[in-house]
Amino acid sequence: MSNKKIWLSSFHLAGNEQKYVQEALDSNRIASEGDNLDGFEQDLESYLSNDFSVGALSSGTAALHLGLILLGVQAGDEVLCQSMTFVASANPILYLKATPVFIDSESETWNLCPIALEEAILDRMAKGQKPKAIIAVHLFGVPYKIDEIRTIANKYEIPILEDAAEALGSSYKGQKCGAFGDIAVLSFNGNKIITTSGGGAIITKTKTLRDKAMFLATQSRDDAPHYQHSEIGFNYRMNNVVAGIGRAQMEVLEDRIVARRNVHDFYVELFKNIEGVSVFTTKNEDSFSNYWLTTLIIDPVLTNGIDREKLRLAFEAENIESRPLWKPMHLQPIFGNCPYYGNKVAETLFEKGLCLPSGSNLEYDDKERIKNLIFRLFLKNE
Ligand SMILES: *Cc1c(COP(=O)(O)O)cnc(C)c1O
Repeated sequence: MSNKKIWLSSFHLAGNEQKYVQEALDSNRIASEGDNLDGFEQDLESYLSNDFSVGALSSGTAALHLGLILLGVQAGDEVLCQSMTFVASANPILYLKATPVFIDSESETWNLCPIALEEAILDRMAKGQKPKAIIAVHLFGVPYKIDEIRTIANKYEIPILEDAAEALGSSYKGQKCGAFGDIAVLSFNGNKIITTSGGGAIITKTKTLRDKAMFLATQSRDDAPHYQHSEIGFNYRMNNVVAGIGRAQMEVLEDRIVARRNVHDFYVELFKNIEGVSVFTTKNEDSFSNYWLTTLIIDPVLTNGIDREKLRLAFEAENIESRPLWKPMHLQPIFGNCPYYGNKVAETLFEKGLCLPSGSNLEYDDKERIKNLIFRLFLKNE
């Protein structure tokens, strides 16, 4: 068996990428407008059910930044944010010179804990400031507690910015993720379930809001023959070349979801009789996860001392990439002084959790290598 690198999540070509990219080149429309951009946005809108408007951007981070601006976040404001997430969820709060207030996870979906969220809102209000927005993430593709978080958001009239970067194709009660926030974002970074090489999108409930986002994303040019600007603008628009990659990738999105979910099933089966290891699975019947990444929790007390780091190093020795879960933001040096509400759920998950190779292009031989390693590592202990 070869020893080629097995990646955590790698780019998986669909087939028609070249065709769409070539069309952009042939029509000499390679910048911030063209058929690929229109087509990609329409594909996403119809995927989400056509009740939404989509604007394609240069990254998911850019979408989060513009989303916060559209929700009115300004310098000095406070923004509630899930602590266990990728740093891109939280960085745009700092771009606006606002303050992140971090919230712990709950142990069922690993996302925003409703109890800690409400505690934080009440405490921030008691201290004199009502938070301006809630950033809720569907980590690893698993929907957050949609109903509970929406109830709290409505009760205190705080809008939700839904970070669906990892959850394209996941759904809750039949409705696709990306549809639950007052504004939502997607990412098409190279490691996501589909990709444009790099890119993102903002999802709004009205075309007016979407157009406002595109105005900000293209340097906020006023309607004038010369370049005139009355607002701060950004250079955040997706271009018509990479949007072509996105169109091709949308054609295979359903296949990619099936493939990632099959990988998840493979791990459930593989670890089912290994004591001390549990593969993270949605237990709520209303929730459907794309299982962008399959993750596990390992308890060294039950595995004769094999902890997360030992398992990671065992993978690494076989040229197989695995990675600890996202390190919570309230433990990151850059966010060290930010308020935090909750307990140690996210911290414990970080200590014991590992992300497994989950690509939609994981092959039979790759799975055999992983299987052999796991059997060797755990069964020799018995
Ligand atoms: C990937 C990701 C983003 C940002 O996406 P980019 O397109 O890389 O800027 C935001 N939030 C989460 C949770 C992500 O995983």
